[in-house]
Amino acid sequence: MSKLYQKLERIVSEKRISNNLYIRHAYSRNVSSNLQGVPDLVIRPKSTEEISEVLKIANEENIPVIPRGGGDCEFGGSKPIGDTGIVLDTKSMNSILNLDEENLIVTVEAGISWGKLNEYLCHYGLYTGCLGPGSGMTSSIGGGISHHSVGGGGCAKYGACTNQLVSLEVVLPTGEIIETGSQANRYSKIPFNRFGNGPDLAGLFCGDNGLYGIKAKVSLQVFPKPEFANYKTFLMPRKSLEISAQIMNEIRQKGIDIYDAMYFMDLVVSLGIQYGLFPMWEHLKRKRGIIFYTIEANSEVELDEKTKQLDNIFLNKKAEEFGSEISEGNIAKWHYEEQGHWLIAHNLWGLVPGFDPVDAECKVPINAYPKIMRDLDQWDLEHSEDMQKILEITGMRPVTGSGPIIMVKDNNVELTCGFSSFTSYYNGEKHTIIDEINIKLWKSLLERLVKHGAMFYMQGDILSRLMVDIGGYQKEFYELMKAIKNVIDPNHILSRGKYNF
Ligand SMILES: Cc1cc2nc3c(=O)[nH]c(=O)nc-3n(C[C@H](O)[C@H](O)[C@H](O)COP(=O)(O)OP(=O)(O)OC[C@H]3O[C@@H](n4cnc5c(N)ncnc54)[C@H](O)[C@@H]3O)c2cc1C
Repeated sequence: MSKLYQKLERIVSEKRISNNLYIRHAYSRNVSSNLQGVPDLVIRPKSTEEISEVLKIANEENIPVIPRGGGDCEFGGSKPIGDTGIVLDTKSMNSILNLDEENLIVTVEAGISWGKLNEYLCHYGLYTGCLGPGSGMTSSIGGGISHHSVGGGGCAKYGACTNQLVSLEVVLPTGEIIETGSQANRYSKIPFNRFGNGPDLAGLFCGDNGLYGIKAKVSLQVFPKPEFANYKTFLMPRKSLEISAQIMNEIRQKGIDIYDAMYFMDLVVSLGIQYGLFPMWEHLKRKRGIIFYTIEANSEVELDEKTKQLDNIFLNKKAEEFGSEISEGNIAKWHYEEQGHWLIAHNLWGLVPGFDPVDAECKVPINAYPKIMRDLDQWDLEHSEDMQKILEITGMRPVTGSGPIIMVKDNNVELTCGFSSFTSYYNGEKHTIIDEINIKLWKSLLERLVKHGAMFYMQGDILSRLMVDIGGYQKEFYELMKAIKNVIDPNHILSRGKYNF
């Protein structure tokens, strides 16, 4: 047993630490099997103070620490870079600490999942606004805040989950514990506002990809769930890529308060039907793009008025409405009423066994995505030779495109784009060449999107470093990030290697 292990065991007890090979391998990956880094050990603290103690020891021993929530990062962000370090799993810190029903603020431990929190809130007629990411059944609030996550429902209305952040309790890489916003005043009893008592220090930790501190407690605004909602799904005319963007832009230009809108490209519709993902659309003769909207309202009159306004926009663009039931094609109903918002993306993994998304998920302005998606078709053609090599081994060529294109609050869309490819284990054999090609294609696709000006919120291992390697960062921005890192984490303990730090 190493000295490090013994020191850490004294903090968390033997039940919440492991250096077992099997456990270390279980924590060596996120959803992408192309990226791996095996930690030296895994630890599951139960309190802010325990996290602080772990970080102090990590500094003494000069060993990196990688914070982890649900481990659902698509870019390898919550596993080590290289075979080293301590993975600090926050999922044991999953309690709801306080619901302030009067001020509509909930305080939780950062390891709780979006699913568990919203299940609790629904008993009070409340929800978190943005329901976190599409992985919300397993992924944590701390992971979501570290990514500016968005996409699991309600994001056209509420935007990224960090928009609802009120206050954080964060353990700095050297072990000090800070509170932000209203809680920076040590006389404040309850978190009630993020912006004040000096600069928005909570913002420093939002979207930091685990770089600057470990979130231990999170206070979020919550909202009363409106009593009325409507949801409709439409089959698009031809040229649906461009028309869907026009529809989303018109909704914004007319100032309509929409809850969600989502567009599925024709390729996704036809493949999804072929592999049984969208049984409600099996009857379609023309497998064109599909779009849906959801709205919420506080009265029937308000609901009718909004429905009329939205229908006008969709029908004027010659979109054809499906029947109101899920079985008639209305996926919007499933998405809103039956937790489809947390299921829809899960189905994209394993749709064809062993054939997984290699992601380039990003945000772009609504009017930019048609051009970007056309360029990704071009990118796919340019890489035919590599794609062909995978086809020769597996009998199936990788597919480039985007999953749902999701409207978000800031007049953007979340482009869930990338390509799907086989992993290196195919037909009982390991084909290292598949991994090599996947990584090469992945980097090339990410670079293409960076050069389109796309904004990445989840950067993880692969993209945080690639952005630096290809000179994607504005120089002064990157230098400031680095200077902050050097000040608050002089030994580069936290998430060592990300952003090439
Ligand atoms: C099926 C599926 C659907 C998805 N849909 C979406 C989507 O719609 N939108 C979206 O944004 N993403 C999506 N994702 C990606 C990912 O799940 C989310 O970004 C999610 O918020 C990550 O949360 P997590 O708890 O799994 O984080 P992890 O993967 O565990 O960690 C993510 C990052 O945050 C850091 N981190 C985690 N917890 C803490 C903490 N307490 N303090 C400091 N740093 C921490 C990690 O080091 C890592 O860098 C999806 C993934 C899958 C598999």
